[in-house]
Amino acid sequence: MNKHTRIVYEKAVSLLFPRRCPYCDEVLRPGLYYHESCRNKADYADNYSTCIQCGRPLFYSDDEYCRVCKGKDFYFDKGYSLYVYKAVSPGIYRLKYAGRREYADVYAMDMVRCLGERIDSLDADLIVPVPLHARRMRTRGYNQAALLGRALSKRTGIACSEALARRVRNTAPQKLLTAAGRRRNLSGAFKLSGNDVKLKKIIIIDDIYTTGATVNELAKELKKAGASKVYVITLAIGSI
Ligand SMILES: [Zn+2]
Ligand SMILES: [Zn+2]
Repeated sequence: MNKHTRIVYEKAVSLLFPRRCPYCDEVLRPGLYYHESCRNKADYADNYSTCIQCGRPLFYSDDEYCRVCKGKDFYFDKGYSLYVYKAVSPGIYRLKYAGRREYADVYAMDMVRCLGERIDSLDADLIVPVPLHARRMRTRGYNQAALLGRALSKRTGIACSEALARRVRNTAPQKLLTAAGRRRNLSGAFKLSGNDVKLKKIIIIDDIYTTGATVNELAKELKKAGASKVYVITLAIGSI
């Protein structure tokens, strides 16, 4: 496609499928990816003192761990999150269930803007998005974590592997379960294919962090397969 054709093509696409702001869902003027005023209202986890394990804003800023992590062992080394869940939850819902795939790149852009230095300092070899079970993938059509992983990979240059981890059990939705139930529900949920994680530093990426049970189960498999470090980056984390 030559330059002129590409411009015409992009104009036609933007008329047919106009980009929407990931924060308010209004149609954007061509060339815009979000409204500056909307993004300024986003609530960033980094604005708070956060849990040294999962990156959740702390209720008491002098604590080291949040109430969910306190006294528990985790397989992942450390978690970071971009937003506090509540203020961005409608956008994440639309990314997940309403086909707003274009949001993923804008969110990844904001991740790099806010967490970029930290991501660089992790010196990671690989991004692994939390996989969906094949059945859920068929009904939803795409995996929002993979969209985020791909977009983050494009912007950081860290390779992203969607084929490495598979979800072998179609687990019950986590939101319906208690914390202990969540851990039981996920036991054995993931399988890795191949063994190219040995001694690698890996970033697991997902959309929402609640108790961390899902990412921890995947981290367990990665550590068992020899990963040297496993970090978790999520788009949003629930405050408690
Ligand atoms: Zn907006
Ligand atoms: Zn925590």
